[in-house]
Parts: sequence; C-alpha cells; structure tokens
Amino acid sequence: MGEALELARRLAEEHTLSDEELLALIQYRDGETADFLREQAAETARRHFGRQIYLRGLVEFTNHCRRDCRYCGIRRSNGNARRYRLTPEEVLDACRAGHRLGFRTFVLQGGEDPWWDDGRLCALVSALKKEFPDSAVTLSVGERSRESYARLRAAGADRYLLRHETADPDHYAFLHPPGQTLRDRLRCLADLKELGYQVGAGMMVGSPGQTAACLAADLAFLRDFRPHMVGIGPYLSHPDTPFAGAPDGSAELTLYLLSAVRLLLPRALLPATTALGTALADGREQGILHGANVVMPNLTPPDQREKYLLYHDKLSAGAESAAGLKELRARLAAIGYEPVVQRGDSPLILTGKQR
Ligand code: SAM
Repeated sequence: MGEALELARRLAEEHTLSDEELLALIQYRDGETADFLREQAAETARRHFGRQIYLRGLVEFTNHCRRDCRYCGIRRSNGNARRYRLTPEEVLDACRAGHRLGFRTFVLQGGEDPWWDDGRLCALVSALKKEFPDSAVTLSVGERSRESYARLRAAGADRYLLRHETADPDHYAFLHPPGQTLRDRLRCLADLKELGYQVGAGMMVGSPGQTAACLAADLAFLRDFRPHMVGIGPYLSHPDTPFAGAPDGSAELTLYLLSAVRLLLPRALLPATTALGTALADGREQGILHGANVVMPNLTPPDQREKYLLYHDKLSAGAESAAGLKELRARLAAIGYEPVVQRGDSPLILTGKQR
C-alpha cells in the first residue's frame, strides 16, 4: 500500500495526523488515496449531517476595501474595480427575499469598508435579528478590533468568517502588502472564538508561492485551532492584480484537501465554495460528494453582483429567485441530497464537542 493511502486510513480512523504526516499525505497523493479520502469524507459528513445541506444566503454588500491583498480583485489599488455599496435597506430587502425563499442564515460579506463603521454595522445586524429572530447572521468583513467584534456580537451577530488564507508567515507576507501579518489575522480569529462566535477559517488552494509545506501548515493549523467552519477554494487569478496571469489553483487538489479537512474535523461546517463552483461546472456537487455540507447561494441584487469580482469569471448564479432555488434543489437531488430550511448551527455549539 502506498504511503499516502496508509496515512489516509489512519486519518479516517483517528481523525488526526502529525505535521509530517499531513505533509506526506499531500506530497504522495495518488488516485487511489483521493478516492479513499472522498468516500470516507462523504460518509463522515452523512454520519453527522445526513443528506441534508445547509443553505446560507450570501449578500455581498460592499466591494470598497482599505486592504491591498495581492490576489484579490477588489483590492484598494485596483482602479478598474467598479465600486458599490448596498444601503442598509437594500441589504434588508435582499434578506427579506431570502427569508421568503426559506433561508435561515444570512452571510454579509464585503471588503473592509470604513463606511461600515461599528455604529452602522451594529444597527444593521440588530435590524436583521429583530426582523428574523429565527435566523443566524454571519459576518465576513475582515479584520477589526476585539472591541468591534465584541460590539457586533452584542448586536446579535452569531458567526464570523475570516479565512486565515495561509498558515505560513512567509507565504502570508508574499500574498499581502507590508503591514498585513499572519499574526494579526490569527489574533482576530482567536478573539472571535473567545467572544463566542461560531468561527470560520480557511485558505485558497494554489495561491502564488504556495508549496505543499504551506498546505500542510494549513491543515495543522485547522487541526489545532478547530474552527466551526472551514472555507476552502481554489485560487483564481484576477487580471487587475499583481498576480495577473498566475495559474489558477487545482480544483482536484482543493477537493482532496476538502476531504482531508472533513476527516480532521468531522463535525465542521464545510461549504462547497463559490470558487469551486467557478472552477468546475459541477463544483458545488463535487464539493458535497467530497465531504462539504453547506452551500452559499448569492442573494446580492443581480445588478450589483457582477461588481463583486474577486477573480476572473466568478460564478454569479444565485438563488435570489424561486427559479434559482428550484434549480439548486434539483441539482442537489440529482446527487441524492436536499437543502434544509434551518439555521444549521455548528454541532459543536450544540454539544460542546468536536469529535
Ligand atoms: N474582506 C473580508 C476578508 O478579508 O475576510 C471578506 C471578503 S474577502 C474578498 C473573501 C475571501 O475571498 C478571502 O478570504 C479570500 O480567500 C477569497 N479570495 C480573494 N481573492 C481570491 C482569488 N483571487 N481567488 C480565490 N479566492 C479569493
């Protein structure tokens, strides 16, 4: 038996591997191991979540950003980006439409937009929680102070997505301008967890300069930090960034790592990401068949959606209409799954256990 397959078997049984073993699992990956990981990951997800897929309604509410991440199409220095910002009422309207369709989690994602200061964002979160007390509010608005995270939590925010992007400090410095550090990013993640948020971390696969050792460090970080949610998607290049023309990340490796994460963190909430859906025509379905249990259709008003362009050809199909949701339902049914109308909290919050 090959070394990677042997490690995959251990991972499926024990739900952990050492740092060196995680590296070997990546370096020596082969088709047989990939098949085994996929089967085990899908079975593990079914054991914890059945064939039910949690839906999150994604509202990309601003693409103004004070950051300059070298890979990202909405970075501050991209003068070609067409900037937009939804008004609080437009965000509420998008969520109202989503709620009527059955969404019970709203994910507000955006660039780090100074207009959305604590006062405005807390007011929006409170308004959402007041109007939809049965729904969870997830924020994904980047790095803020601990005090800010505390205020947003007090206003009612339940969850926070903040990918760590890469757990290797040198790679982090390569992907970001001076002044943005892995240390700060990890400080934010630790603060969010301590403040009682359900926290999502994650990384891009195949970002420029990434090595197998970087990915092994990502897996080791996830193993140790134990986030409630993990977003993993392929890196996809954007022509108006310093990394224009860099090759896209591999969807196949992304799926392999998704399966590995499902086995490392059996109860984690794992989305089949938009980037995966962009890289592969059936990326959402493939993600689920490799262990994902969440999809995040887009509720952003269609006229603004095309401006939230993080990378080339970003998938913008959503489920803001009954027709969109019907299609999603049909696609999930074709692989034997169904979307559910519920908040879809982390089982860790409900039981206090990870395994
Ligand atoms: N500003 C918030 C933050 O930094 O967490 C949220 C918005 S940010 C655009 C959301 C995620 O998009 C990032 O965490 C990053 O992983 C992903 N992303 C950005 N550019 C990308 C690219 N070129 N390819 C794939 N994913 C990308």
